[in-house]
Amino acid sequence: MKRDNQIFDLIEQERRRQTSGIELIASENFVSEQVMEAMGSVLTNKYAEGYPNKRYYGGCQIVDQTEQLAIERVKTLFNAEWANVQPHSGAQANMAVLMSCLKPGDVFMGLDLSHGGHLSHGSPVNSSGILYHAVAYAVEEETGIINYDRMEEVALRERPKLIIGGASAYSRDWDWKRMRAIADKIGAILMGDISHPAGLIARKLLNDPMPYCHIVTTTTHKTLRGPRGGLIMMGKDFVNPWGLTTPKGEPKMMSQILDSAVFPGIQGGPLEHVIAAKAVAFGECLSDNYLAYIKQVQLNAQSMCQAFLKRGYKVISDGTDNHLMLIDLRTKFPDITGKLAENTLVKADITINKNMVPFDSRTPFSTSGIRVGTPAITSRGLKEHEMDDIVALIDEVISNIEDNTVIEKVAGKVNEMMSFRPLNAW
Ligand SMILES: *Cc1c(COP(=O)(O)O)cnc(C)c1O
Repeated sequence: MKRDNQIFDLIEQERRRQTSGIELIASENFVSEQVMEAMGSVLTNKYAEGYPNKRYYGGCQIVDQTEQLAIERVKTLFNAEWANVQPHSGAQANMAVLMSCLKPGDVFMGLDLSHGGHLSHGSPVNSSGILYHAVAYAVEEETGIINYDRMEEVALRERPKLIIGGASAYSRDWDWKRMRAIADKIGAILMGDISHPAGLIARKLLNDPMPYCHIVTTTTHKTLRGPRGGLIMMGKDFVNPWGLTTPKGEPKMMSQILDSAVFPGIQGGPLEHVIAAKAVAFGECLSDNYLAYIKQVQLNAQSMCQAFLKRGYKVISDGTDNHLMLIDLRTKFPDITGKLAENTLVKADITINKNMVPFDSRTPFSTSGIRVGTPAITSRGLKEHEMDDIVALIDEVISNIEDNTVIEKVAGKVNEMMSFRPLNAW
């Protein structure tokens, strides 16, 4: 077969873009060579509908072992009793949980999307908001932090059947214990979506949801630094609270319901090449090397936060506990939108994303904020003393938003800083 130069030339251009720039999108990371190798392997050729040792296809004796390894490793990593590693993405993992716990029209509660929640936590354009009735809790305007007393008030008023904790743009830790107490008051299931801070949670740098949440979901490609994908876990399996039984008349375990929701509920054949890459990533996450990496991610975020504060930027909640921060540009640059900041920073080879800030006066298309995170630049090998240099470059661009000479000069500095570094230096 003739080599497809059209595509491979574009892939090479993307490799160069990633190598020469400063990547600050909080949900992105750079995987290791061996994660990439497993993803690009012959396992992509295999159909394996079903679960290890319970497949609908022959020839699954090897992929049964790779999938079982992924399951065992992630259970060790998070101290979970049960895991399903098949969800194709974080949104799919969440959809499977919602389908398991709710009937169409049922009420569930998540963090307000404009306060840092995720599309799959009840956006009207996502299946979670189309099929179910989503209600929201919020952060406080003065502090930017979740007030759990207010959360409890919403829960008692709306009586959701499922409560979701976790977010995409929230820089503070979660009080899982308190959330479980709220859920227990109304007999709701508590789901923790730890897609963003999963790696920090796994290595005990943040509160552990596993003892308190009935069900935990996550992506595998953010701080966990694995292939693009999703995952569902339970600290402890339990009998379903709705009286559902198996064909033999025995009470169904939640694990059985969740397994069926993933397949055949919402997915067909699992991506066994991606599952093998998840196993590799989970193995890496268990290493001392990863522990040093993820501590550095947190240290870099704290250092970057100080650098923004020092230059007069408003950081939502005035700090960060995890790997990201949300910046409200209105305090320092009332006329510059998140969108303009994003587009101009891209010209300087610095990638961030525009983001709504809580109680934003602008729309999701323009926004007043930007979200910045350190997982990817930490994978490139950057350390805490370099965060101030990066924020200085960002500040130079935003302060000279219409000056192309300045922007080009910054791009030159960015390329000089990054081009010699491997994508994954760990
Ligand atoms: C990223 C994210 C997801 C979705 O992940 P995809 O793999 O993009 O579907 C779900 N929940 C939260 C909180 C996230 O941050």
